[in-house]
Amino acid sequence: MVETIPKDTSKKLDKHLRKFEECRKELGKMGFILTGSIVKRFMRCGKESCRCMSDPMFKHGPYYEWTRKVKGKTVSVRLTEEEANILAEWIKNKKRFYEIISKMERITLDALKEIRS
Ligand SMILES: [Zn+2]
Repeated sequence: MVETIPKDTSKKLDKHLRKFEECRKELGKMGFILTGSIVKRFMRCGKESCRCMSDPMFKHGPYYEWTRKVKGKTVSVRLTEEEANILAEWIKNKKRFYEIISKMERITLDALKEIRS
């Protein structure tokens, strides 16, 4: 793409390309990306004899769930704490992925202004 642009313009694009390259590097290092959210719950089991029914401060848990929408329906998967931590990281990656893409688009728009000015 740069080759087809006159040399002085290509030079003007350099700083934008460098910023763009930083984003590309960050994307290149990114791990798995996942949709949904992690929920941490404490629950009452419902047994009359259990402490959770007599003591308002006591509940069972924590229980971890990964919830997401599948074809409009909320689907939940029970997780261990360790799994919850891993999946939370992947969900965070997805947010970061979209942030980087938006940034790359803004840089591209800056580059476009450079060409057209
Ligand atoms: Zn209970």
